Amino acid sequence: MTDNQTLAGKKAVYYTLGCKLNFSETSTVSQILSDAGVSTAAEGEEADICIVNTCSVTEVADKKCRQIIHRLVKEHPHAYVVVMGCYAQLKPEVVANIKGVDVVLGAEQKKDILQHLGALEKKDHGAHFTSRLQDIRSFVPSCSHGDRTRYFLKVQDGCDYYCTYCTIPMARGRSRNGSIASLVKQAQEVAAEGGKEIVITGVNIGDFGKTTGETFYDLVRELDNVEGIERYRISSIEPNLLTDDIISFVANSQRFMPHFHIPLQSGSDEVLHLMKRRYNRALFAHKVEVIKELMPHCFIGVDVMVGNRGETPECFEDAYHFIEGLDVTKLHVFSYSERPGTMALKIPYVVAPEVKHERSERMLQLSDAKQHAFYQHHIGEVMPVLLEHSKTQNVMHGFTPNYIKVEVECKGAYDNVVVPVRLGEFVADGSALKGTML
Ligand code: SF4
Repeated sequence: MTDNQTLAGKKAVYYTLGCKLNFSETSTVSQILSDAGVSTAAEGEEADICIVNTCSVTEVADKKCRQIIHRLVKEHPHAYVVVMGCYAQLKPEVVANIKGVDVVLGAEQKKDILQHLGALEKKDHGAHFTSRLQDIRSFVPSCSHGDRTRYFLKVQDGCDYYCTYCTIPMARGRSRNGSIASLVKQAQEVAAEGGKEIVITGVNIGDFGKTTGETFYDLVRELDNVEGIERYRISSIEPNLLTDDIISFVANSQRFMPHFHIPLQSGSDEVLHLMKRRYNRALFAHKVEVIKELMPHCFIGVDVMVGNRGETPECFEDAYHFIEGLDVTKLHVFSYSERPGTMALKIPYVVAPEVKHERSERMLQLSDAKQHAFYQHHIGEVMPVLLEHSKTQNVMHGFTPNYIKVEVECKGAYDNVVVPVRLGEFVADGSALKGTML
């Protein structure tokens, strides 16, 4: 255990790769260190401790993790280097052998960071590592404080699904969650700090309740009662777990925004079957219909993966036309990446890299067209926009309830303030609408 005397006055840098969950967990680790007297190093300042929270969603992510570690070791040659997160959990030996790394923490050990700082004595080589999958049992509560407008509240961790292409269950363990009472308390703390928006995050949030015998629907209902939080957004939720009850609750709530993020992955039933996803495309189309019937203005983001093993040209065309016909707003497009240890490697049909790239480009163009049409449809309307901290003087950005990005010219400080805005034309690069504050 490193005592607070050793840590007092030390400086740390934090680097997070990957998902919102990692960001909220890094935030928890930085809070633990800050409580022990460690401050965040300023830009360009040499740190005493480097914390890297890694991701392993693709081969590219693994490579990026290694690059970042090398870079931080070079920039902070005397710092004690701690690596954690999915890549550290899946490949602890590889990470431990990177020159300059001092300790590699498994998913279960992040919360005990202080015990693993070892008086900050650097190793010559061969870092100590603690990752063991069977150890991943506890739920580490996390809520990111990064920016004061939007907080990411982790409500669930791990996954019991074992989709054939995914390593997350190996990196994060089985599905588990915090209790509704503890999460409501965290939301109340966010409100007390002046936070206005909470994004509910997890690995498979619809599966919430395995540990506590509660349901995601109950959680949503209870969070809706927290005074002071003006906006909730539900991050990615599996279509088979997005019940009609949840959709109708969101439609009637003042605090839950008309915004969903639903992973489809493929619009081909054949590929969905190979992926061992727990729904078919008819179910997905039904969910979109129910949402749009109750909330025609709802933003629906959809994850799509291209180039999966087994995705023949016919399957891809079939998937493309299905997605083209869906009334959704934006596609988050990923290219399939071979992951060691996954069942997908047993599927013989492999898609060539250049074909994957082509398919990805087509999906991205489809996404741009859909998002453009959605934004266009709302031009001229007046909507409440939550403005966010901006470094640029007189120009601020924010989002409408249905997640349209808006750029507003304003004099004075409107950070973290909801203002009525009339939506105008697209900004030059098409990424937002210009708005006029009323
Ligand atoms: S639902 Fe499937 S893709 Fe999502 S984390 Fe679980 S196993 Fe991975």
